[in-house]
Amino acid sequence: MIRINQENCSGCGTCEMVCPHHVIDLNSKRAFLSYEVRCIECGACQLNCPNKAIIVTKGTGCLLVIIKEDILKIEPKIDTTELLIGG
Ligand code: SF4
Ligand code: SF4
Repeated sequence: MIRINQENCSGCGTCEMVCPHHVIDLNSKRAFLSYEVRCIECGACQLNCPNKAIIVTKGTGCLLVIIKEDILKIEPKIDTTELLIGG
């Protein structure tokens, strides 16, 4: 499950950029869930949000993520190259 606290959102757009499934969009400089069912609960948006405005908790729909993170201990990896180029 993913939740965005829009009161803490500064509209930086980082979550939109790092999400691999285009779950998050910006509207009036606030992040919102445009396609929540596509969320694989990878945690990339939460990890990269500078304002801690996003909380991601693992649910039953993210078996692959649970195997990777909890069993294989593989942390989600974020390619920040695009962020550096874009910024
Ligand atoms: S990364 Fe955080 S502060 Fe930036 S747009 Fe997303 S929710 Fe808002
Ligand atoms: S947890 Fe992953 S898939 Fe879900 S919204 Fe955040 S970055 Fe996108």
